[in-house]
Amino acid sequence: MKKYTYLTLVAFLFSVMLIAQKPKKLTSNQIYEKVQKLNFLGSALYIAAHPDDENTRLISYLANHEKARTAYLSLTRGDGGQNLIGPEIRELLGLIRTQELLAARRIDGGEQLFTRANDFGYSKYPKETLEFWEKDKVLSDVVWAIRTFKPDVIINRFDHRTPGTTHGHHTTSAMLSVEAFDLANDATKYPTQLKQTEVWQPKRLFFNTGRFFYRNENEFKNETEGKLTAFDVGVYYPLKGLSNNEVAALASSQHLCQGFGRLTTRGTELEYVEFLKGDKPKDASDIFAGINTTWNRINGGGDIGAILYEVEENFDFSNPSKHLPELLNAYDKIMLLEDSHWRKIKLNQIKEIIEAAAGLYLEVSATSSSTTPNGEVVIKIEVLNRSTITTFFDSYSFKENGVRVIKSPEKQLQNNVIVNITDIIKLKNTRYSDPYWLQNKGTLGMYAVNNQLEIGKPESDRPLQVEFNLNIWEHNITFTKDVVYRYSRSDVGEIYEPFEVLPEVTTKLNNKVMIFSDGTPKKVQVSVRAGTKNITGFVSLKAPSNWKISPKEIPFSIAQKGDNLMVDFLVTPPSNQSEGNLKSIATMDGKNFNKELVEINYNHIPKQSVLLDSEAKIVRLNIQKNGSYIGYIAGAGDVIPESLRQIGYNVLVIDPTKINNENLLKFDAVVLGIRAYNTVDVLKFKQKFLLEYVEKGGNMIVQYNTSGRGGIDVGAPYKLNVSSDRVTDETAKVRLLAKNHSLLNFPNKIEASDFDGWVQERGLYFPNEWGTEFIPILSMNDKDEPARNGSLLVAKYGKGHYIYTGISFFRELPAGVSGAYKLFANMLSIGKEK
Ligand SMILES: [Zn+2]
Repeated sequence: MKKYTYLTLVAFLFSVMLIAQKPKKLTSNQIYEKVQKLNFLGSALYIAAHPDDENTRLISYLANHEKARTAYLSLTRGDGGQNLIGPEIRELLGLIRTQELLAARRIDGGEQLFTRANDFGYSKYPKETLEFWEKDKVLSDVVWAIRTFKPDVIINRFDHRTPGTTHGHHTTSAMLSVEAFDLANDATKYPTQLKQTEVWQPKRLFFNTGRFFYRNENEFKNETEGKLTAFDVGVYYPLKGLSNNEVAALASSQHLCQGFGRLTTRGTELEYVEFLKGDKPKDASDIFAGINTTWNRINGGGDIGAILYEVEENFDFSNPSKHLPELLNAYDKIMLLEDSHWRKIKLNQIKEIIEAAAGLYLEVSATSSSTTPNGEVVIKIEVLNRSTITTFFDSYSFKENGVRVIKSPEKQLQNNVIVNITDIIKLKNTRYSDPYWLQNKGTLGMYAVNNQLEIGKPESDRPLQVEFNLNIWEHNITFTKDVVYRYSRSDVGEIYEPFEVLPEVTTKLNNKVMIFSDGTPKKVQVSVRAGTKNITGFVSLKAPSNWKISPKEIPFSIAQKGDNLMVDFLVTPPSNQSEGNLKSIATMDGKNFNKELVEINYNHIPKQSVLLDSEAKIVRLNIQKNGSYIGYIAGAGDVIPESLRQIGYNVLVIDPTKINNENLLKFDAVVLGIRAYNTVDVLKFKQKFLLEYVEKGGNMIVQYNTSGRGGIDVGAPYKLNVSSDRVTDETAKVRLLAKNHSLLNFPNKIEASDFDGWVQERGLYFPNEWGTEFIPILSMNDKDEPARNGSLLVAKYGKGHYIYTGISFFRELPAGVSGAYKLFANMLSIGKEK
């Protein structure tokens, strides 16, 4: 018995890992679970703000125990987070997190929806959030999700009544949900949506609360007394060999870029919801109480239920194909349903069951990973029936851009005898298959998506499909399959990847930010990649008019698809401060190609191909520097060494375990990476040497460290209390407190304009108390908050200087913000005034 459970778990994990790309191959247990879901006509929508906000325990419980259609509406794709597994940030991180949500839903059985809101970074209050999100558009998208998904119940992850207690995006997600609950059924609101869908009134709205939202168990008990409904979500699923909590943990462990990998748990566990709005359920423990979730719910459903409940009750696990006559009979009746919403959902569900019960295997795989908008693709088709039911393979067809090719082999499929066909698809002006929400330039707070039918979709539809027209026991059924790319690697095995439509040629500037600290020209390398075979053309660079580029163009010729060619240009900056974008363009037959191809490949999500504008930021700084040799001690990860090297410093990365009382003396300054005292344990034993270095005349610069409930000791020479004060508005006014201090004057004069063009935030985890030895240099604050004066503190210690700063240099320097470079150069130069 033990062994059986283990094997089931292994099989489950294995299918989870590969299901992202591979065709689903359902076991009898899974077919039976699909029949159970087919026979439940209720839906739930879970709403929050970010990938990883969702409660997978509850989503899995609703999808697997209740059998409800369950979706998670994440308002954003999580572009603003950090990435613990790779270098992708911003829109590329949002893409990874989108795919992690889809991976989580493949495990917990939910569906995934989005809005056009972009996770622009941290905000404290909903008011601040809505300065970036266009409220009307995001609200419209929540209404659209409700009108199209048509949930019976909506469950909010966050409390709409407590702004300021959590991330502003969180509270806003709940507030918009409460508002949309009423608007979705009002035909005068967002009326253009009603060309594509209908109004909908969800039955009730809940807030999914828990101990998590309160300081302690007692506070939770006292404040929620009599208001909550609790139910046990720790149920066991014998068909899976897993507890609900195990499914939930496996699902949330997909959020790997956020460090969510965790242990599975089992056993009874209570989940709490608070009723907010709508029709209050009489049976508090059943969120669907009073909602008809049987086939009788819809006109004509009774007959279908009569057939399908019977199939569920007498299900033959050893031979599911035995039920095909009843399933096909029900299929015909579902086709005739008047209710188009349920017809579509139930048709998809029953087709999947029929396909699996008949042991059908229908696959169409391309012989290469991509093609071009007018290219050709060789495909291999595999059709197999593994049941005794009489089945004919009538025809298959491609439908893309009006071109429709139908071929009719008209062949009876013998039990377990495979049909293999090789064919060629010719494309005509097919659009690129990259993520639809990244195809147009949006704003900081919103993606630009114009097609209403695309809004909310988790990903772009795959570009090529094949329809298989089968006749099963006198019933005509069409199964649609995406073209996939299938190949094998001797060290991995069989691999499935999405098939893509991509440009004939793409280019890439290898450095995304180039800093010119003086007038010296720099070599700029462009990589040219062939998206098809035998391409020739020329590549050129475009920069603001005061920058010089030579040569004007460089010809290229590449024979093999996928091959790269490197070309070098010389870029000369103007004599004065200047910044702009450098764009690379490939030209072939008079047509310009201005995209870069970015491929993202991790084991837990399908391979992603993204097209971004091929460009880099170029900055000519007017910067003075004193000192040249910098020591750097890495913390949680930033690119300070690369940034400083770009402006001519010589940077040595120091192994913290090797620090002693002598080897720091050679440095003009020593810089600590972000969160060094949070992440590098050995620093507490080396602090005495660092301070000794300062005492002898050194210059030590400490970047931000986080302060938890117990605080953090950063070993400063004088009193210094790190707090969680932050300034999240990157445009917040910066006041110069110590106007005459060398940090603002030597060797670069810092002015108000040096704080223009900053990105994401000003800084974080500023100290809020410090000894009188420290001099606060700057003052800033978010709207409606007191002045924060601890962003940049400096103290003399012995003959040297100790600087502590929460300013987000780790964001500003890689973004090429010139004022941040000047201020950093001044920190490195302190003590070197003549
Ligand atoms: Zn969140």
